[in-house]
Amino acid sequence: MELEYIEHISPILKDGVKNYLIDIDGTITDDVPNEEPERMVTCEPFPDALETINRWYDEGHQICFFTSRTENLKQITIDWLDKHGFKYHSVLCGKPRGGNYHWIDNHLVRATRYKGKFTDLVEKQVTIEVFKEDEE
Ligand SMILES: [Mg+2]
Repeated sequence: MELEYIEHISPILKDGVKNYLIDIDGTITDDVPNEEPERMVTCEPFPDALETINRWYDEGHQICFFTSRTENLKQITIDWLDKHGFKYHSVLCGKPRGGNYHWIDNHLVRATRYKGKFTDLVEKQVTIEVFKEDEE
């Protein structure tokens, strides 16, 4: 992993390298609930997601699939990702279900909502929520 170590604090990624955390169900394939694991074997990847994610991997970014699938579904998930040729570094199960995510972290966090088209990312001005001290 492309990490820079600084004494006494957590390591950070090298400049320009992104830590992509990518949802699975409804984002790179059909929205399959944990209650229907048989569909996790037969669902098809979205081609634009496969192509874009593999390109990000080839460019040197870190690819982690971060999913609400439970640990008992991890191997099915890994087999499916491998079968369809996804390039990635890790799979994290157990993301809370229900959406409306709001991530608070001492590191930089950017978020992009998937709305049916997986492409390279472009910049856009939006309103975000910040802690009061950060207000201008
Ligand atoms: Mg999802």
